Amino acid sequence: MEHEKTDAIVLRVVEFSETSCIVTLFSRKLGKISAIAKGARRKKNPYEGALDLIAICRIVFLHKSSQSLDILTEAKLERRFRSASTDLDRFYAGLYLIELLNLLTDEADPHELLFDAACLAIERIDSPDSEISLRDALIEFEIQMLDLLGHLPMLTQCVGCGRMRKTMNRVHFGLNEGGVICPDCRPGKQNIISLSSEGLELLLNLTDHQTKHRTKKTDPSANSSNHPAYPEVRRLVSKYILHLIGYPPRLQKYLGNLEGNR
Ligand SMILES: [Zn+2]
Repeated sequence: MEHEKTDAIVLRVVEFSETSCIVTLFSRKLGKISAIAKGARRKKNPYEGALDLIAICRIVFLHKSSQSLDILTEAKLERRFRSASTDLDRFYAGLYLIELLNLLTDEADPHELLFDAACLAIERIDSPDSEISLRDALIEFEIQMLDLLGHLPMLTQCVGCGRMRKTMNRVHFGLNEGGVICPDCRPGKQNIISLSSEGLELLLNLTDHQTKHRTKKTDPSANSSNHPAYPEVRRLVSKYILHLIGYPPRLQKYLGNLEGNR
């Protein structure tokens, strides 16, 4: 057993005993971890608000090499999610973000870039005066997450035959295949979404932006949610994520306000 020190985002807190909780954290250094927080349910506890959902904290824990739970020994709050009590849309978006992190990452599989992207997205989601809107912050993070976890859809060529996509009014997007499908490869395929050329253009912009600016911290030009095809792309991204996970994320249905006009 060794002591590990790292930053982490609180994804889940479950009561374990009268005095303890089990916390799921997405840490910068070690990826997702589950640890027992002894005494966390006591009124006076050593964690002082650091274990609230969507909080970012500095933790010290005993990392066990076996299957058993890690033991959280310290957690110091670095950033509290302030909108939790003031803005429901922002709170739901924050909860959705941590749900995605929990569902799409594996234990002990570190992704430092994803950790940094999540911290930036949390800050944007939690700041009403952020330079980018809530919708933009969320969809940008979702695309970034897909990219960093190797799930970015293929959009420039057919996922079936590899031929470059021709310009058309509408294209087929295969959820099973993870990208656009040409008319020749379309027959017999299931879970196909029809996407307008404007929708595809917006999706291409969003994914291009990711691959070119992986480490860029700010992007004042990002305003995808003003694009006429935004509602269509918003729905496609939600369906694609649902398909990857295999069932709808619990918080997805609370994001209705983010979809915009249909
Ligand atoms: Zn094809």
